[in-house]
Amino acid sequence: MAALDGLPPLRDVIQRHGLDARKALGQNFLLDLNLTQKVARTAGSLDGVTVFEVGPGPGGLTRAILALGAAKVIAVERDARCLPALAEIADHYPGRLDVIEGDALKTDFAALAPQGPVKIIANLPYNVGTQLLVNWLLPAQWPPFWQSLTLMFQKEVGQRIVAQEDDNHYGRLGVLCGWRTQAQMAFDISPQAFTPPPKVTSSVVHLTPKENPIPCAVEKLEIVTQAAFGQRRKMLRQSLKPIGGEALLLRADIDPQRRAETLSVEEFCRLANCL
Ligand code: SAM
Repeated sequence: MAALDGLPPLRDVIQRHGLDARKALGQNFLLDLNLTQKVARTAGSLDGVTVFEVGPGPGGLTRAILALGAAKVIAVERDARCLPALAEIADHYPGRLDVIEGDALKTDFAALAPQGPVKIIANLPYNVGTQLLVNWLLPAQWPPFWQSLTLMFQKEVGQRIVAQEDDNHYGRLGVLCGWRTQAQMAFDISPQAFTPPPKVTSSVVHLTPKENPIPCAVEKLEIVTQAAFGQRRKMLRQSLKPIGGEALLLRADIDPQRRAETLSVEEFCRLANCL
């Protein structure tokens, strides 16, 4: 990392600031310079962009983002122990890094968003990652305040995000992501790249908002997908019984004998619109 920006190697930073990883905060730090740069590059050009980063920790990914382009970074970190290490990075890049101490789940990112393009890049704490993603996908106003999301998840969650119909990983998350975004799997990162290594492989996914998603009320889409995937092995006429069953399916022009995982996003939207 020293070659990237003249700042001390991350291992030294972690040791000097006593940042022993805490499991409760989902702390698995990425110290490999090549990988942090690869994650940052996945977000595309960062010139003139404000990047929101969640959970910068000791700042490995933050440093890669700052070194790559002329981006300004607003980082939200819950662990106060990381703040002095992040302050050193802010000193090194004057005026380009603001750190907010707080819980990302309680942060109103839309309200913090400045004029101009915003991209979100994060190696997310596993325990809050999916909820944050869903929060960023739900706003009434669309396209949203962000231009792209470049996020690291457990591989299995990444597979659910990009899954389409007839895929074992397809479910509520895949429908929500497929409805409003183009979601792509970028690359995997092995557990050994992290300190300490997590139990499973991680994946970086990249999402960009669709300009014109199929018009559909998100609450209704949630009701339909919850019922359908709650009993995913059953025929839809059975699983959707509490919300209209066969009559609803026929109104939406969908064969009641099909199962949830065979329905496209467009068909789920049709069902929601017939509720
Ligand atoms: N970005 C660093 C990296 O790539 O090495 C650290 C990633 S680590 C997987 C997750 C980070 O998120 C930790 O620094 C942790 O303290 C922070 N974190 C955990 N829960 C959080 C929350 N609710 N809000 C903000 N940050 C959180």
